[in-house]
Amino acid sequence: MTTSAAAAATSLVRPEIAALEGYVPGEQPQAGKWIKLNTNENPYAPSPAVARALAATAAGRTLAKYPDPLATAFRRRAAEVLGVEPDWIICGNGSDDLLTILVRTFVGEGQCLRMPYPSYILYRTLAGIQGAGCDEVHYRRDWALGDEFAAPRDDLRLAILANPNSPSGTLLPPERVAELADRLPCVFVVDEAYGDFADSDCLGIVKENPRVIVTRSFSKSYALAGLRFGFAVAQPALIEQMRKVKDSYNCDALAIAAATAAIDDQVWLADNRARIIATRTRLVEAMRRLGFVVTDSQANFVWCTHPERPHKPFYEALKAQGILIRYMNYAGWGDGLRITVGTDDEIDAFLAVMKTL
Ligand SMILES: *Cc1c(COP(=O)(O)O)cnc(C)c1O
Repeated sequence: MTTSAAAAATSLVRPEIAALEGYVPGEQPQAGKWIKLNTNENPYAPSPAVARALAATAAGRTLAKYPDPLATAFRRRAAEVLGVEPDWIICGNGSDDLLTILVRTFVGEGQCLRMPYPSYILYRTLAGIQGAGCDEVHYRRDWALGDEFAAPRDDLRLAILANPNSPSGTLLPPERVAELADRLPCVFVVDEAYGDFADSDCLGIVKENPRVIVTRSFSKSYALAGLRFGFAVAQPALIEQMRKVKDSYNCDALAIAAATAAIDDQVWLADNRARIIATRTRLVEAMRRLGFVVTDSQANFVWCTHPERPHKPFYEALKAQGILIRYMNYAGWGDGLRITVGTDDEIDAFLAVMKTL
């Protein structure tokens, strides 16, 4: 593309879009043999019930018709698993879709979205697309979040907290989240994309507080990143407003069938979770022995910094050996390495290279 074409396009789009740095996801190489420890996917195959549900849905005439706009079959099953009613649940094409719906529902142009820093960079992008401002509250050095996160502000419409957080993997205890929720003057989203790996979750707060929304993803704990499915839980009055904003058919029939089968197999989830946590423990201990500072992760990845060595060369040396991890550099905070918990064999291969460095 020529620079004049780029300049012309910039003058055609909304100024908010021209000013935006688009969200850049982690590398997803489409060829070659990589050990992928960079985007927090689950290293195992999903529940076998998923393949059966997909095959049954693909046969016959189901795909000739539009899907159920409200994914009722999924919501009924999920409601039983979570101990809520189906009208407390809204589904999305991945939880990123729900985050888009949330920002569009609650934050207008010129209003403000609050988020911690460093955290999931997509929140900032969504605020930018909406023409909204973002108020980034820095974590403390120990990844605690101060009361500034709940400070009043006239234009504040929404606060989003990833819990467990990325890149740190740390968890704010539900009692602290409830405290922040009580003080915040706006809707409060707790993004539990990694919630299934953690010791506790914030679903109980949703039942107590009509302004709290929890989102969940099938991409990590259910090993379905390629499927695109997630959901949010909130009291029905908020869900009803969010339904007006979503695309009518934001979840396709295959995704609804597969996610219903996946959430139905809680035995698979418990087994997979135990396996990932066992490997995570091993990875954390090994990295600490290599001299890294590693946070206590409640997710399927670990955040490592080294007190003396620069971080980027580790990422580069691993990449040269076919192993992808995530090098993160947060302006005003610092950098580090985020490593997804892979299979035991993948983590052994990773550690073998690390030991040579
Ligand atoms: C992965 C991730 C998501 C997005 O999940 P999808 O369901 O794949 O869209 C949302 N929030 C956080 C913090 C994540 O890490």
